[in-house]
Amino acid sequence: MENIAYYNGTIAPIEQMRVPMDERACYFADGVYDAMFTVGHVPLALDDHLARFYRSAKKVEIDIPMPIGELREMVLDFCRRIDSPDAMAYVQATRGVGPRGHAFRFAGGKASLWVFVKPDVLDPMDRDYRCITMEDTRFLHCDIKTINLLPSVIYTQRAEERGCDETILHRGERVTECAHSNVHILKDGALRTAPCDNLILPGITRAHRIAQCRQMGIPVIEEPFTVREMMEADEVFFTSASALCCRVREIDGKSVGGRDLELIGRIQRAAWDEALCEAGLSGGR
Ligand code: PLP
Repeated sequence: MENIAYYNGTIAPIEQMRVPMDERACYFADGVYDAMFTVGHVPLALDDHLARFYRSAKKVEIDIPMPIGELREMVLDFCRRIDSPDAMAYVQATRGVGPRGHAFRFAGGKASLWVFVKPDVLDPMDRDYRCITMEDTRFLHCDIKTINLLPSVIYTQRAEERGCDETILHRGERVTECAHSNVHILKDGALRTAPCDNLILPGITRAHRIAQCRQMGIPVIEEPFTVREMMEADEVFFTSASALCCRVREIDGKSVGGRDLELIGRIQRAAWDEALCEAGLSGGR
């Protein structure tokens, strides 16, 4: 089958799914989500993504109506059942269905669980990416993976209008992250990346790249960097579930990076090796 979806017990192709109008996702974007990509029908870093999903839900007091082990089996099953070996697997929990009203202790309230898997591919690592910068005007709980994505929608639209791939966000001089990925720099042989505080999403891919860099003996500095430091860095790259390690060569129309192709190449190869290994498609690193 081409794609598959689940909503509160119903399983059908995405196009056939219907949700009630009083679903709080519609009125308030009252929910959290997570997303991962598959290689060879295997969702990468599934356990890390599911752990973050349940953590996000806990932070906003949503009680996901399925034990993590059962959800894990469903995601794996869906990934195996669709035709495409390359796909996005998406999980979402919302506060459920109830009459519109901001407070959420309404009678009979029960969280909704949404899952879908549909064909999609990882962003290629053998090309250069172009970005724009914008002031980060989001709220101060960016560590929660909420479905309140209006700012990211606007940032991404602006990037697309300029023929670019991603929007790098900054609060004043401090670079935070991107519209839908984390951004990092390489300088003098070290990886520098913003610390995991309330201003960024603690990216699963970020954590994997950091762990690999440490394994490879590459120093990792988890400290904020400025827009200027980014523009003068040896390399700039972003990471997300779909972007294992994407090299940025242009920001706001100016050329950046390109000064440590050997190191960025090593990090990219390690990222791909890890993905293949997890998918059982290679002998490993
Ligand atoms: N930052 C934001 C705002 C994101 O939306 C995402 C992914 O969707 C990331 C970072 C990267 O996180 P991950 O590597 O877990 O996909």
